[in-house]
Amino acid sequence: MLRALRIVAAGAVFVGLNLFFLGFADGTGLLARIQFVPACLAFNLVAVGAVAGVTALAGRIYCSVVCPLGVFQDIVLWVRRRFRRASFSYRPGRTVVRAASAALFAVLVLCGGAALAGVVEPYSAYGRIATHLFEPLAAVCANAVADLCMKWGCPCILKSEIFVRGWSALGVAGVSFVALAVAAAMRGRLFCNTVCPAGALLGLLAAKAPVRIRLDKAKCVTCGLCAKTCKAECIDVSRGKIDQSRCVRCFSCIGTCRKGALSWR
Ligand code: SF4
Ligand code: SF4
Ligand code: SF4
Repeated sequence: MLRALRIVAAGAVFVGLNLFFLGFADGTGLLARIQFVPACLAFNLVAVGAVAGVTALAGRIYCSVVCPLGVFQDIVLWVRRRFRRASFSYRPGRTVVRAASAALFAVLVLCGGAALAGVVEPYSAYGRIATHLFEPLAAVCANAVADLCMKWGCPCILKSEIFVRGWSALGVAGVSFVALAVAAAMRGRLFCNTVCPAGALLGLLAAKAPVRIRLDKAKCVTCGLCAKTCKAECIDVSRGKIDQSRCVRCFSCIGTCRKGALSWR
């Protein structure tokens, strides 16, 4: 149930944000204003407070519902699972890499290197992919439909110009797309728990969240099914522990456990 709710909510936000990036729906600008790093940089205290508060209370729900790059990685993994089984296992957190990545991001932003920092900032990275790759792709598809309609004697769709905004940005978007897609297909939320600066900060807040995924050792038979499902590779079955700082609240593990040993409370 929790997983289904999360998927519906994430899907709605993801569609809304993509419409926003493709210029179809200005009303969805609100979704853009609650993105964590841009809100921090714009001193949008209401949005930052809301995201930080929810994360400190209940964990990284932001990372499973609101962030478009997180949902993009989940979609890649879902597609991969249609063709080949994906199995994960617990790995210790890369705390030093996460801290170094977040520190480097902060230094770049403070020293005027925001363009470089934007390569790993999740909202910018996904926005670049959507506007530089998906927008021309959408135009190609629309033109193909327009050609078909014309062939059938129904000129109801006008062809549009395929607009490339800049070759260097297109190149960065292409490389980001491939790198993120490969990482997500092979290792789930690897980017989220090593490189992403927002993930590092939200992970700190989520580490002690009182509403958490809990593993009941009395019920657990250490079958390991939950760890194989966990895209954050954060369930340590042998010790009966879950790294809350890396858990992205996808709720996949809860439904996987046949013994009812996992819950979110
Ligand atoms: S860790 Fe970063 S990229 Fe991953 S979902 Fe959270 S904000 Fe988005
Ligand atoms: S799926 Fe359930 S029983 Fe199996 S290891 Fe995970 S918590 Fe334990
Ligand atoms: S611990 Fe469960 S809810 Fe958290 S990321 Fe792993 S599978 Fe998702």
